[in-house]
Amino acid sequence: METLQPKPSFSESDLETILVSKEQIDQRIKSLASEISTQFADEDLTVVCVLSGALVFTADLIRKLNVPTRLDCIRADSYGNATESSSPPRIASALKTDIAGKNVLVVDDILDTGNTLSAIVDHLEEAKPASLKTCVLLDKKERRQVDIQADFSGFDIPNAFVVGYGLDFAEHYRHLPCIGSLWPEFQILR
Ligand code: 5GP
Ligand code: MG
Repeated sequence: METLQPKPSFSESDLETILVSKEQIDQRIKSLASEISTQFADEDLTVVCVLSGALVFTADLIRKLNVPTRLDCIRADSYGNATESSSPPRIASALKTDIAGKNVLVVDDILDTGNTLSAIVDHLEEAKPASLKTCVLLDKKERRQVDIQADFSGFDIPNAFVVGYGLDFAEHYRHLPCIGSLWPEFQILR
């Protein structure tokens, strides 16, 4: 007998659990932005957004900063359409601006194994910035394979595959205002 596959709606109702609500994200971004603004007071800052996952987070974060900020983007290929990381990631798109002698803050969505952020940090160090700090919205500490810690971090989360607020499954769900895990039946590519 043929079994009926439930259809994803690509909305919040495909989430089994919400790990971080919109309100929690908003509040945490305010305090992160104030920490960052204090640290870079009287200096200028180049924010490097790691596409595509950190796009939503970066957009909200930079609008809460109180320091003059330039924005650039970088892209690293790591997951493709799968939910498991294939290391090592490749720097797929370089910066537009010259960061030599600049204070740089790399913003990523999530620190998981650490392979992506450490590859990006190594790549950016070659351009000789004056300083290089990292900021991630989410941290899955128990998954770490590379010895790296973020200088600024939003939330520690357990080892689960999450979507929403910039994080995707096969490019879907990035627009959700909260972060959560999908029902297992929607974690299949169709
Ligand atoms: P890492 O290289 O640290 O293992 O993985 C970092 C990248 O993998 C993140 O920038 C993110 O794009 C992706 N990633 C890691 N964990 C998750 C997750 O739970 N959900 C989604 N959507 N992406 C993840
Ligand atoms: Mg990413």
